[in-house]
Amino acid sequence: MRYVSTRGAAPLADFGTVLESALAPDGGLYLPEDWPVLEADEIAGLAGRSYAEAAFQVLQPFVEGAIADDEFRLLIEDAYATFDREGVAPLRRLSSGEWLLELFHGPTLAFKDVAMQLLARLLERGAAARRGPLMIVGATSGDTGAAAVEAVKGRAGMDLVMLYPHGRISDMQRRQMTTHGAQNVHVIAIDGTFDDCQAIVKSILSDAELRRGTALTGVNSINWGRVMAQIVYYVTAAAELGAPACKPVFVVPTGNFGNVFAGYGAVRMGLPVTRFVIATNENDILARMVASGHYAAGEVHPTLSPAMDIQKASNFERLLFEVSGRDGAAISDMMTRFSATGVLDLTEDAHGRIADLFDARRVDDALTLTTIRDVYRETGRLIDPHTAVGVAAARSARVPADTPVVILSTAHPAKFPDAVYRATAAYPDVPPALARLESRPEQVERLPADPAIVRGAVKEHIRTAELKLHH
Ligand SMILES: *Cc1c(COP(=O)(O)O)cnc(C)c1O
Repeated sequence: MRYVSTRGAAPLADFGTVLESALAPDGGLYLPEDWPVLEADEIAGLAGRSYAEAAFQVLQPFVEGAIADDEFRLLIEDAYATFDREGVAPLRRLSSGEWLLELFHGPTLAFKDVAMQLLARLLERGAAARRGPLMIVGATSGDTGAAAVEAVKGRAGMDLVMLYPHGRISDMQRRQMTTHGAQNVHVIAIDGTFDDCQAIVKSILSDAELRRGTALTGVNSINWGRVMAQIVYYVTAAAELGAPACKPVFVVPTGNFGNVFAGYGAVRMGLPVTRFVIATNENDILARMVASGHYAAGEVHPTLSPAMDIQKASNFERLLFEVSGRDGAAISDMMTRFSATGVLDLTEDAHGRIADLFDARRVDDALTLTTIRDVYRETGRLIDPHTAVGVAAARSARVPADTPVVILSTAHPAKFPDAVYRATAAYPDVPPALARLESRPEQVERLPADPAIVRGAVKEHIRTAELKLHH
C-alpha cells in the first residue's frame, strides 16, 4: 500500500515513511492511495473472532508490502494483550437499541490505548532498522499523552516529548503522564490551550532543520497509524450486531475528528453504516460545520469533557480531501486560507456529501451532567463525561426505527471522578492502575506557549538521545 498527501504536492510514501513522518512534506496528512475493500462475507465472518484476529484482517492491506503477515500478527497480539479481561472493545447494552462500545479497558483507561499500543510497537520495529534516534513529539488535551507515555516508556530507539496545556487537564490525567519514571519520556506543561500545544507540535514537525538530522514524528491522531488502528472496532462492533445485514448508527464523542474519521474509513472499506453522529461539547466547530457548511474556529472553552476542548479538528482535513474529489491543490488552498483567516467555506457539493453521512449535536456541561445522572438512575452504571456527551447526542439525534445506536465510550469514569460525583453523588471505583499513581513522584517541565522556546527544549532532548545512542 502506498499513501498520498491531502495537499497533493508530496511524493507517494510507503507505510514506514508515513508512520515516521506523521505530516507529509507538503504539510498535508497521509491517506491510503486506495481504500482496501472488505467483502460482505468477510465482515460477517468477523463476528465471534478475537479482536486481534479481526484487527489483522482489517489492517493487513494497509501494511501490505511493508510488514510480513506473521510479524504483523505477533505485533497485534502483543499490543492487545495489554488490555484487561473485558477485552479491547466490548459492546454493552445500555437500553433497547442503544449500545455502549467500551474502549477504555487498556492500560490508561481511555480509547487512545487501542491505537497507541499498536503504533508504539510499529515504531519500535521501524527504529530497530535505523541508526539514529526517533523523536516523537505530541500534544495532548489529556488522554493522548497518558496513552503515548504508557506505550513508549522504556522502548528502544525512541524518545517522546509530550506537551499539554497547563492546568487544563485533570489531576489524574497529569499523574498518568508525569509518573512514568522513564528516561526516554519528557513531559512539558505549556502555558496555553491545547490548540497552542498542537500548533507548536506542527511547527516542530515541519521544522526543516530539526528534520534534517533526526527522524521526527507525531503520535497525535494526525498520524495515520492512529486512525488506521481505530477502524477496527467499528467493524467488530457492526459485525457483532449483525452487519452487513444491520447498519448501525455510530455516535462518536469528538475532538480532533480522528476517531470519527476512522469510522468514515470503515465505511470507505465497505462497512454498512446508517449514519455517524458527531457529538461535541460546547466547543462545537464541527456541529456548526455540519449544520451550515461554514467551518469557523472560535475560542476554546474549558468543559467537563476536556479531551474534546478543541476548535481546530486536524483530521477534518482528511474528510475534506475525500469529499472534494481528492483534489490536493484545492485542499492546500483551503487550508492556507483557513490558517490565515480561521474560516473555511465548504463547496455545496462537499457539504452535501458530509451532511448525507454525518449528523452533529452540541452538548453543554449541564446536559452532560444530567445525562450521567440519568444513565446512573436507569442502569446503575457510571459513565464518564465524554461518553455522556455521546449518550446525550444519541438521544437527541434522528435515528431510523430498528437501527441499533452504538455510542463510543471513550474513557473510564474513574478518570473523571469529580464530574461523575457532581452528577450522581457517587464516586466510581478506582482501578488499581490509577490508585498506584497517587504515591509516585512527578516529572514535568513548564514552558511558555512559544514555539521557539519549545523547539529549543526538543533540540536538547534530541542531543541527549544521540549521546545515549553513541555510548
Ligand atoms: C481523545 C478523546 C476524545 C476525542 O477523540 P478525537 O479522536 O480527538 O475525536 C474523546 N474522548 C476521550 C475520552 C478522549 O480521550
